[in-house]
Amino acid sequence: MRKLIIIIFTYQFVNCQINITNLIGIDTSHLVIHDEFHKLTKNTSLAFLDMQKAAKNDGIDLQIVSSFRTFDKQKNLWNKKFKRFSDEGNNTRESLNMILRYSAVPGTSRHHWGTEIDITDRNVIEKHLLNSNKFHNGGPFEPLHNWMMKNAHKYGFYLVYTDDKDRNGFLYEPWHYSYKPDAIEIIKSYDIRTGFAYFKTTNVSGSEIIDINFWNNYMQKYFFGINPILIPEL
Ligand SMILES: [Zn+2]
Repeated sequence: MRKLIIIIFTYQFVNCQINITNLIGIDTSHLVIHDEFHKLTKNTSLAFLDMQKAAKNDGIDLQIVSSFRTFDKQKNLWNKKFKRFSDEGNNTRESLNMILRYSAVPGTSRHHWGTEIDITDRNVIEKHLLNSNKFHNGGPFEPLHNWMMKNAHKYGFYLVYTDDKDRNGFLYEPWHYSYKPDAIEIIKSYDIRTGFAYFKTTNVSGSEIIDINFWNNYMQKYFFGINPILIPEL
């Protein structure tokens, strides 16, 4: 069944450069090998290298912690969190809400696209990298944050989950950047109903309460709850 649906979706997007399987972490044919650990779109990879060089000149050792992620990797991450929150006594809805503080429903993560990077400064020796407090008020990643705020846009990179109080969705992530020129094309090609139809063929934990209403609300709040500069103009 899953295979058949992929074939149909691929057929529907056959005239586009990127099809649904590229958007949900199934097909990586639109990506290049950036280094031993990371795949990115070609333009994201090249732009990152330029930005990394410039950062190095300013004393920041810019490195990627996480980039492209497959559907199955996102599913494992999701299911692990679901089990942990369920074991702590939360019901399905509560567990989903807790996962959704930071993690996307498999198939909707921007990390499926090859345009997204979580970053660090390798000069800083820290164990827990992805903690927003460490990017402010004298924290170890404040110089990295300040450099990115001043320079990232020159290379096409923008924060996705900003600390704007009016933004909905995932919590503030000062480490997560998106390469706008490619990401904006990808978000334009994402068909919400097709994404839902595929999701229903997978058995992600808690998916029994994720119906089309849940999906539509989720997409509105989380998928589009991003820095407005990354939302395509109509
Ligand atoms: Zn991220």
